[in-house]
Amino acid sequence: MWWQEPVTILKGVGAKTAADLALAGINTVGDLLEYYPRQEAYIDYSRLQKIKELAMDGSRQIFKGEVCSARSGYGAHGKNYTAVTVRDETAYATLYFFSYQRYKAQKLKPGQELLIMGRVRPGRTAKSVSECIIQEMDGKEATAPGIMPVYPLTGKLTQNNLRKWIRLALAKAAEGLPESLPPSVVKKCKLPDRLTALKNIHFPPNWQALREAKARFVFEELFLLQCGLLYYRRQSHDTRQGIKHGADGELLAKVRAGLPFSLTEQQEKAWQEISLDMQDVHPMHRILQGDVGSGKTVISALALAKAVENGFQGCIMAPTEILAAQHYETLQSFLEPAGVRVGLLTGGMRAKARRELLLNLELGLVDVLVGTHALLEEDVRFKHLSLAVTDEQHRFGVEQRARLTNKSEYAPDVLVMTATPIPRTLALTVYGDLDISLMKGRPPGRKPVQTLCYNEQKRQEVYAGLLRQVQAGRQAYVVCPLIEHSEQLEARSAESVYEELKSGVLKNVNCALLHGRMKGAEKEALMQGFAAGEISVLVTTTVIEVGVNVPNATLMIVENAERFGLAQLHQLRGRVGRGDKQSYCVLLAGTDTPEALARLAVLHDSEDGFYLAEKDMEQRGAGQLFGLRQHGLPDLRIADIMRDTETIVQARKLAVEELAKPGAMQEIRALVEMQFGERFKMIFNT
Ligand code: ADP
Ligand code: MG
Repeated sequence: MWWQEPVTILKGVGAKTAADLALAGINTVGDLLEYYPRQEAYIDYSRLQKIKELAMDGSRQIFKGEVCSARSGYGAHGKNYTAVTVRDETAYATLYFFSYQRYKAQKLKPGQELLIMGRVRPGRTAKSVSECIIQEMDGKEATAPGIMPVYPLTGKLTQNNLRKWIRLALAKAAEGLPESLPPSVVKKCKLPDRLTALKNIHFPPNWQALREAKARFVFEELFLLQCGLLYYRRQSHDTRQGIKHGADGELLAKVRAGLPFSLTEQQEKAWQEISLDMQDVHPMHRILQGDVGSGKTVISALALAKAVENGFQGCIMAPTEILAAQHYETLQSFLEPAGVRVGLLTGGMRAKARRELLLNLELGLVDVLVGTHALLEEDVRFKHLSLAVTDEQHRFGVEQRARLTNKSEYAPDVLVMTATPIPRTLALTVYGDLDISLMKGRPPGRKPVQTLCYNEQKRQEVYAGLLRQVQAGRQAYVVCPLIEHSEQLEARSAESVYEELKSGVLKNVNCALLHGRMKGAEKEALMQGFAAGEISVLVTTTVIEVGVNVPNATLMIVENAERFGLAQLHQLRGRVGRGDKQSYCVLLAGTDTPEALARLAVLHDSEDGFYLAEKDMEQRGAGQLFGLRQHGLPDLRIADIMRDTETIVQARKLAVEELAKPGAMQEIRALVEMQFGERFKMIFNT
């Protein structure tokens, strides 16, 4: 099929061009056709303005200018930039370029004519333009009428060349292009056909045609995604019988009586929902969603006890060894007094101990197994597993959960615990028909963490505060974005911060360096030392993000806080404020830009993880937060899980209808494969 052929089948495209295109991920004619222009980045020549007329409100505008000069600098915000001054007959403007774009900008020569699109704001001497997309003019394009696409560029690609080649590919497509959606769906939803939509997304005759073309591709992507998910679900349909647990009995009463606290109303409600699910013969598929520190662990303990009470086994899988070890300890303290036998399985275990544990598991002498991914290994066999809990922060994929639940002759109950709020539509997409239990707020008796945002100038004061906490017998975390120093990234590394503290303010204090590149056993030993109070200050990376509980830790310092997302900072902050002492979280920003500081200030104002996640989505887009790839799903090229909510619901409904038609399965599977190929791991790995 021609669209799977290399781009060199197009007339005028040679090996050299093909190599340039390959750098942008374009190999086949089909890739070229699907190399969509940047969102919102079409140049509408009717909106061309003079520099003097440009509004300075930060909106995207289009103008022409002649290059006067280019200079490089290093800003107060700690970033290298290139500033290019341009002018037309009315005024001057300064274009700012950062990161890789600045190398290209440095090569601009005085006298060159540019077409510029960017966000315009007031500047010191001339209007300042950021997020620039520039195009060198060759006279011809300058007078071209209509709406022009602007493509993401890499390497030697230029806008004009890309446009030329895409026109060639479109001409080829006009000779015959198969539909990528079932014809009945195209008709029913009144979508433009594929060829029309392709033409119009690249070279729209008007804005309406562009909107329709985009809408079609958004729908197409979501529809085929839903088809793929339904296909997967049908393939992996569970024919095993579910387990009906009895009503809460003596063992549960005993565990509850032994808890050092009573459940909050929210916990009680969540537990009732889970308990009832477990008493139903249909397998439970439930998400327990609760903010950091909301007390999810104790709920899992009750669920595990319920499995054991009914003569079965339960397991809980955590994303890191540190967290698994911590769960093991907590669950032991909750469950062992009631006679429940708890085991811990990690990757770093000695062969002999492991063999023994696995034997006991198979004999039913271990009731509850706690562990990491190590639980998924083939030789981990239960006598009769009835409940699988995963404690995760979007870290396990669908297949991993499936592998865990397949360790039973029955269809076990499944409980997924997460601290990250998941939008309803994404939950629908990724988890299918999971029920959700929500726990808002925290258990009583915990003071809110005081969050402070500072810049570099306050470092010594922050260090003095650190020393005061340590001298008062408390502990602290110092979190850095990097493990070791990097030439490319201007950020502080755990290694250098550790050295600095150790040779300075913390000379006589017991500190340790902990990061993800260390061995499991080494990390665990350090973590245990910290939990036991032998280590006072832990300099670390985000390995600490998940779940560890050290109530005596009252201070967290985050270096280069501007490099983290709000939700992530909130997770990190959840490591302190776990005891009854006042705790602090100090966000040290490596920048002074008002935007970065304003963003961090949101953390000062709120401790509500759900609110922060929403803010985060606004600031960064959902794609970043909910990497679909982690769930075995393909990344989406044009659709957006957060933005296109209505389309998701519509696509899902139509996908169910279409797949119900006799014989539709194979045809649609082929379309799904054409769209996503092996990017759809969930399907192609099973
Ligand atoms: P997370 O939801 O983040 O996993 P944890 O289960 O680790 O939270 O609970 C956080 C802390 O709150 C733990 O120290 C736990 O013992 C405590 N906790 C949980 N439930 C209650 C409660 N009902 N009353 C008082 N403290 C509680
Ligand atoms: Mg937890």
